[in-house]
Amino acid sequence: MPDPTRDACETRDAHDPLRPFRDEFVLPDGLIYLDGNSLGALPRHTAERVAHVVTQEWGQGLIRSWNDAGWFDKPRTLGDRVGGLIGAEPGTVVVCDSTSVNVFKALSAALSLRPDRDVIVGDRDNFPTDLYITQGLAGDHEHRLISVDGPSLAEVLDERVAVVLLTHVDYRTGRMYDMAAVTEQVHAAGALIVWDLCHSAGALPIDLDGCGADFAVGCTYKYINGGPGSPAFIHAATRHHEATQPLSGWHGHARPFEFTGTYEPAAGISRFLVGTPPLLSYAGLEASLDLWDRVDLTALRTKSLALTDLFIDLVDSRLGGRVEVATPRDHAVRGSQVSLRHEDGYAVMQALIARGVIGDFRAPDLIRFGFTPLYTSYVDVWDAVATLADVLETEEWRESRFAKRLLVT
Ligand SMILES: *Cc1c(COP(=O)(O)O)cnc(C)c1O
Repeated sequence: MPDPTRDACETRDAHDPLRPFRDEFVLPDGLIYLDGNSLGALPRHTAERVAHVVTQEWGQGLIRSWNDAGWFDKPRTLGDRVGGLIGAEPGTVVVCDSTSVNVFKALSAALSLRPDRDVIVGDRDNFPTDLYITQGLAGDHEHRLISVDGPSLAEVLDERVAVVLLTHVDYRTGRMYDMAAVTEQVHAAGALIVWDLCHSAGALPIDLDGCGADFAVGCTYKYINGGPGSPAFIHAATRHHEATQPLSGWHGHARPFEFTGTYEPAAGISRFLVGTPPLLSYAGLEASLDLWDRVDLTALRTKSLALTDLFIDLVDSRLGGRVEVATPRDHAVRGSQVSLRHEDGYAVMQALIARGVIGDFRAPDLIRFGFTPLYTSYVDVWDAVATLADVLETEEWRESRFAKRLLVT
């Protein structure tokens, strides 16, 4: 089949049911932003919402806003709204802390439910913080690692495994686990599963309850567009609300305002809270959830796959073997990003950014492109590949200014 033309992409945009959402984002002129898998774009309505919380709820309401503006309940009210994006019933998600901290709480809670078992299973290729937190927490537990080249999950699961921590969509390659099948496999071995949803929440529909998942964590500043450093979330299935987690702070207490000297965990998901929530950050998340409340996640997934298919097809036909597609072509195991291998990937990405196409680089050799169906257009994809083709053909990336490593890649 011949490549779609740029005009054909314009036509697809005109018929895209999610097209109106693009106007709800601030996108700098002349820029193609394909890094919403790292930091989501700014919804138009966020600045106003944050300003309201600063000037009214804080400035005028002062301490009264803990009650009057619903501040105290925000971890739960926003948690329920995030729950709608990940298939978790109300009362099973709270928004709080960072993903790193929530990994610690979820793993600890799972271990408390399997006191007779002494193995934690992780993925060698997981995002480092998941591995680091596991290492910090493991103590006497053995930390077994699986990977795509083996050993497989089936090979490491046995009666000693207490918990398995996996990231649903791999941050480097965009490869996705079959959540239902893996959850079932882990349960069959008598273990519990913690899903990290950092690259799936807001990227595709997720059905935690339908899959029988035990725990989940994830961040809100990537596909959910909550803003830099916006708070993370943690989910525990209702049947696990008696689990204990060791960060027993006062916001997780049964009656925080009795100020008693002895910790008594709250009933329900609230026991996963620790300390005072960052209300200004919550305001940014709240503004982005106002958009998400209106999004049809099936349409989101359809467009996500259409965007990544288009990108892969154009890369195949226009980049002439200069890069290797590292992301699975099979829809069933693909998230909402595409990664390309190039041995000078860092310089290639810097050259591309200089041309106004923003993706990112993950060592050792991957250039990543995130596709966020709410604001990425088909024309963006077409233009991005055309620019990349030009950068590679002219070998512009060889210029010395593109070799200098910045602190954040
Ligand atoms: C982005 C990401 C994190 C980030 O953790 P923070 O505590 O927010 O820094 C954790 N895990 C995975 C899989 C991620 O992709």
